[in-house]
Amino acid sequence: MENDEAVVIRSVDFSETSLIVTLFTRRFGKLEAIAKGGRRLKNPFESALDILTQINVTFIQKKNDTLDILTESQLIRRFRVGQSNLHGLYAAYYIAELVNLFTERNSPNPRLYDLLTEKLSVFAKTESVNYHLAQFELQLLHENGTQPVLDRCAECGKKFEIDDPRQLIHFKQSAGGIICGKCAEISRDLKQQYTLIKTETLNVLNFFEKEIIDQTKKLTNESIIETLKLLNNFINYQLGSQPKTQKFIKQFK
Ligand SMILES: [Zn+2]
Repeated sequence: MENDEAVVIRSVDFSETSLIVTLFTRRFGKLEAIAKGGRRLKNPFESALDILTQINVTFIQKKNDTLDILTESQLIRRFRVGQSNLHGLYAAYYIAELVNLFTERNSPNPRLYDLLTEKLSVFAKTESVNYHLAQFELQLLHENGTQPVLDRCAECGKKFEIDDPRQLIHFKQSAGGIICGKCAEISRDLKQQYTLIKTETLNVLNFFEKEIIDQTKKLTNESIIETLKLLNNFINYQLGSQPKTQKFIKQFK
């Protein structure tokens, strides 16, 4: 029997009385577990198995395709947002879905757990949701080892320098990042796709990479939205599909 703290990232009814929950635990990574009796009024889980809830959990971990078994849970905190903060609510659902899509069972990542819980608290109260969402996505890509290449050409490796801030930059998803003008020409001839991004978008990405927090105010809302768009597409490309909850966050500008 193991014990850990966790966030409920998915919860589905399994039977009249039971639930199947996907938990992201701090020390054990993702669990897919059955909570027998979880739908009963009186249950050993303190009715704390709603999505986005943070809990302390006791479980029996199983290998392979067998579901883990939850035996007990205690509520740490529920995720609550104000009625006017739909954006924060959708963003929270979205990052929970991303964590589920980007992680495997039995592969712990305490840093990602801490990032998830930190952003959930931020989304519960902040107004700068897009900013934190873009930051989360980039850090998630880092944890996954598939972050975009931003400091050199992702194709030929040439060091990247921007001479003119008005210059547009080529970003090629299949190469994994920005590419130089020469490589863009070759891509064009080969009919391989790339997009054009503003230097400001690259600045935002670099800013997130270096984590200089006190410069936040210099980032415009527009540049953050552009960055988020780029990261969303990059994530969709890597997953091979669009996460279900992504369409909800796209409504907010
Ligand atoms: Zn190149």
